[in-house]
Amino acid sequence: MSDKFQAVVIGGGPGGYVCAIRLAQLGFKTACIESRGSLGGTCLNVGCIPSKSLLNLSEEFHKVKHLSNKGIEIGEIKLNLQKMMKNKDKAVTVLTKGVEFLLKKNKVTYFKGTGSFKSKNEISIKDENNKETLIHTNNVIIATGSVPVSLPGIEFDEKNIVSSTGALAFEKVPKKMVVVGGGYIGLEMGSVWSRLGTDVHVVEFLDHITPGMDKEISNEFMKILKKQGINFHMQHKVEKIKKNNTGVIISTKDKDGKQKDFECDKVLVSVGRKPNTSGLNLEKVGIELDNKKRVKTNKDFQTNLNNIYAIGDVIAGPMLAHKAEDEGIAVAEIIAGQSGHVNYDTIPGVVYTTPEVASIGKTEEQLIEKNIKYKIGKFSFMANSRAKAIDDTEGFVKILADEKTDKVLGAHLIGPHAGELIGEIGVAMEFGASSEDIARTCHAHPTFSEAVKEAALSVDKRAIHS
Ligand code: FAD
Ligand code: NAD
Repeated sequence: MSDKFQAVVIGGGPGGYVCAIRLAQLGFKTACIESRGSLGGTCLNVGCIPSKSLLNLSEEFHKVKHLSNKGIEIGEIKLNLQKMMKNKDKAVTVLTKGVEFLLKKNKVTYFKGTGSFKSKNEISIKDENNKETLIHTNNVIIATGSVPVSLPGIEFDEKNIVSSTGALAFEKVPKKMVVVGGGYIGLEMGSVWSRLGTDVHVVEFLDHITPGMDKEISNEFMKILKKQGINFHMQHKVEKIKKNNTGVIISTKDKDGKQKDFECDKVLVSVGRKPNTSGLNLEKVGIELDNKKRVKTNKDFQTNLNNIYAIGDVIAGPMLAHKAEDEGIAVAEIIAGQSGHVNYDTIPGVVYTTPEVASIGKTEEQLIEKNIKYKIGKFSFMANSRAKAIDDTEGFVKILADEKTDKVLGAHLIGPHAGELIGEIGVAMEFGASSEDIARTCHAHPTFSEAVKEAALSVDKRAIHS
């Protein structure tokens, strides 16, 4: 007799494990299946967490090297990459074990293995020894995430031609690294290795980095990264990548068709990720995909089969951990008959470089395209007293508000702790706040958050400190 569950979640990433916990909280007998041997998905194992650990450690290394400029003299600074990597691995282990504890605490049954559909109510789980377990369930939530995309004809060897996973685990600091794609991964991992001493070259197909970001912020971002020593080759399309004895040769063509080759020891291909539906046997039960091979869902995360749902990177929308988590909670509540929902207009995006870049809501380009009349408030960290006090003054806050109603429509920040500052604007937008609401809220002095208040004041042309 196979085990019977009320809900089975396939995938133990931020979408899947959060969904499983919420289902259990709501009284469902729940199982969560994960194939990689540890919980937390891409995010905890090979994504958000290890990259943020290396971003932080490489930034500390860089800062310490330059402390003498600020009057703090220390001896010779040496990098111990192995120790740095161990530190990163420790952060991953602590957090993935923490998720296992949370599943246990909430009485979610954790199956280690690969899940696939036998029928719409039966899931087969194959463990690493190919032993099969069959379980029965009323509801299934597909949360199988995404995997990196390569370029046509180019395969990752995770040594010289790497995805983010390889770039998180180099054994030596590369001399020269080409990064294909100036998006989130390319710029975060490019920053890590540049700070540790690699000559980093970003080759980007478009004329700007981080497509979809407010253009003014994106331009400022590239200017700052250039100053930090990262090289940019814009409007270059990568056509071929070939290995040779010493490393890799990357052949590109610019917008005029002129060929340019780059030689380096490592190439990071970071041109996006694709939904991971392989091995699920979706065809067998007839689950439909959309034109981008994502699992097709309605607004309640339901597939074309009414007891099967999908969330996170495997469905449409931004590929972000917090989006997956919120969808996990929403779908659990919907299955329980409650009215779970996700507000896609207020999902923040953060790039964890130095300075950080954070956005929420509409960009200026989107407002122009939609013919929405808006006002802009801007405030530079150069005029923020906390930033001045600690000599961290790059960047600015930009708030976009409706011309008539003053309702905040979007905010875009580049500067110190931008990823934390965006939270305030998220709450404001959820409550339908106007820029005046933010401007009239008392902000502690001296804090970076005063730059948000001043930007809000500036919407109405009444900033005090600029
Ligand atoms: P995943 O985290 O991909 O989890 C899916 C899980 O399902 C995987 O563990 C997989 O092994 C498992 N699985 C797949 N198929 C099966 C099967 N058949 N049976 C059992 N298990 C299966 N996002 C942010 O918001 N902030 C960041 O700072 C950030 N940094 C990132 C850095 C990098 C380098 C990368 C690659 C991504 C980063 N992301 C970040 C994106 C984030 O990791 C993803 O958006 C998030 O992990 C998606 O969650 P998910 O649960 O949908 O899928
Ligand atoms: P991305 O979509 O962010 O960027 C890909 C870039 O590659 C784009 O700028 C695109 O124009 C460029 N490109 C595509 N084909 C090219 C070619 N042939 N030659 C040159 N350039 C080319 O993708 P990514 O950086 O791989 O990241 C994948 C996803 O992971 C992101 O969309 C994001 O959702 C998630 N992520 C988030 C974070 C974070 O939240 N801080 C960090 C890392 C990853």
